[in-house]
Amino acid sequence: MTDTVFILPPALAPGGTAQVAETPFGAVSGRGNIFVRTEGSDARALIYAAKAGGARRVIAADFVQPVSPLLEPGDIIIPADLIDQTKLRPFTFFVGKGYGFIKLNPPFCPDLMGALLGAARRRTARSFRGGTYVCADGPRDATPAELRMYRQWGADLVGTGLLPEVYLARELELCYGAITAVGEADLLPILQEAVTPVEQTCACGQTMKLTKEMGAVGEDWRTWL
Ligand SMILES: [Zn+2]
Repeated sequence: MTDTVFILPPALAPGGTAQVAETPFGAVSGRGNIFVRTEGSDARALIYAAKAGGARRVIAADFVQPVSPLLEPGDIIIPADLIDQTKLRPFTFFVGKGYGFIKLNPPFCPDLMGALLGAARRRTARSFRGGTYVCADGPRDATPAELRMYRQWGADLVGTGLLPEVYLARELELCYGAITAVGEADLLPILQEAVTPVEQTCACGQTMKLTKEMGAVGEDWRTWL
């Protein structure tokens, strides 16, 4: 049992990774409570494995391309909002169920955002909270025209990793927070530092409360899928 699971891009994968979980959505590789987001894998496997392992919180990392001209290589951003430009990724556990309309305001767990910002600021003053993250399908960078469009939309950064993990974590009532870096940076120590117990004030664990009250689902999350 682990309270927190980390989801990392392959470039941050620690040495000695192996299969750490088997799920109905495929296998998850990593080490202990560190899961690796591999190219083309089903995000439902990562979130399912986190929940099945007893986690309450998921902290994810991604490397991003700057959209805002104010961002510099090495900057760390704790995104606060999202624009979804992905296509055809499996974005829900509740296919054909008719329930699970998930609220996304705020999209990321506010408790984890605060903890991540604190840990990031201790590493670098170039740590920012509140960016809007565009998630696009990879594996490629955004084109200059796409970057101009994202800028007009009010976005700050673009990456490929955090969706649909955000939605899937919500569906299973997990806290989900994310940290991103412009270019490569050693984010794992920041993630691990952010874990130091945060008193839970968020409502992430109540996402399905109404659906339960309406009798559409029971208490056991495994029966929701
Ligand atoms: Zn939360």
